[in-house]
Amino acid sequence: MAVLDQISSQEAIALENKYGAHNYHPLPVVLSRGEGVFVWDVEGKKYYDFLSAYSSLNQGHCHPKIINAMSEQAQKLTLTSRAFYNNVLGKFEKFACDFFGFDKLLPMNSGAEAVETALKLCRKWSYEIKGIDFNKAEIIVCNNNFHGRTTTIISFSNDPTARKNFGPYTNGFIKIEYDNLQELEATLQSNPNVAGFLVEPIQGEAGVFVPSEGYLSKAKALCEKYNVLFIADEVQTGIARTGRLLATCGNCSCEDKNCSGVPEVKPDILILGKALSGGVYPVSAVLANDEIMKVIQPGNHGSTFGGNPIAAAVSIAALTVVKDEKLADNASVLGELFREEMNKYIATSTIVSSIRGKGLLNAILINDHESSDTAWNICLALSDNGLLAKPTHGNIIRFAPPLVITKEQLYDCVSIIINTLKKFE
Ligand SMILES: *Cc1c(COP(=O)(O)O)cnc(C)c1O
Repeated sequence: MAVLDQISSQEAIALENKYGAHNYHPLPVVLSRGEGVFVWDVEGKKYYDFLSAYSSLNQGHCHPKIINAMSEQAQKLTLTSRAFYNNVLGKFEKFACDFFGFDKLLPMNSGAEAVETALKLCRKWSYEIKGIDFNKAEIIVCNNNFHGRTTTIISFSNDPTARKNFGPYTNGFIKIEYDNLQELEATLQSNPNVAGFLVEPIQGEAGVFVPSEGYLSKAKALCEKYNVLFIADEVQTGIARTGRLLATCGNCSCEDKNCSGVPEVKPDILILGKALSGGVYPVSAVLANDEIMKVIQPGNHGSTFGGNPIAAAVSIAALTVVKDEKLADNASVLGELFREEMNKYIATSTIVSSIRGKGLLNAILINDHESSDTAWNICLALSDNGLLAKPTHGNIIRFAPPLVITKEQLYDCVSIIINTLKKFE
């Protein structure tokens, strides 16, 4: 068998099982093509993508403007490393800084790398600007967080599957309850060595936990009071997913007048990834203003591929699509509609207890606390019926379609989902 010959789903799965490390548990679907909200498997069956690679594909699969930017750049210059300048990185940095309202950007590749970058930036700031004693800095994080998979990041996770047998763990983190301002204030008050507070505006991987109204802005105010950096991990919630350009959405260039919900908060450090490239290329970034970013000097931090010309060109195109196609508006309007339609069904359902979310980042809770198979089996049935979604944390199913989805397509998906769920009542 030549390497690029057609293979069946069964063959592709068998190859991955035999030769790939088993670090994921995928649905048994083998995809070979994507366009907009749709993907096709190797047998030609068409599906709605309701995961969007964990909210990376907000602009839809293979958006022609993004693909075009990538292939044009790929024919000119792909990588220089940061040992030299390239003619696209500066343009991207200016574009993204104007777009999100920050002075400076530090480019990386994966979300986890950007989180690591933010943690290093915060620690260095705390020693050189805030004046915390050498090696004493602490960063507050939340229970049930998901910030990626590096050794340091899993050190402050409380997911046993992500942590177990990967120790010894990195010190310097204090875990508090998510959406608990009292605990945040008490921790800040009793600990003068806190440098930063790292938080997801909505906890995506944990099962789409939306904090109380005002939580983020009050947490930010507490951080200001105690001279602690507010670090927003918007790798999943950012880039229009929750109905605004950012879920924190402070002082950005978002012109969406329908923005509602979470009050405006401007993070001191903003972490982006996933849809920053429209799912086309690994691009992540950390944004901050000069008074913070200035602590990073040559040699302190870097990445061979971070800020490469393809990444820069792709990301400019991906952000332009978000703005031109008003994806934040679409996510906001269709998200409301989705929850409204689902709630009509949930009112009489015994298998689904509720839906929660913001914009087009939503999750349903399956009424089945003991066995964790039900959500998985529902996802298998959804896939048979032409819609791909994945359970997260047992009995929760996340629904996050590309933001280019139309109203008509959304209604079609609602009926696929409801008809499938009815079989499980
Ligand atoms: C996905 C995700 C990450 C990690 O991104 P990778 O590109 O997988 O390293 C970090 N934070 C949040 C909130 C995420 O959803």
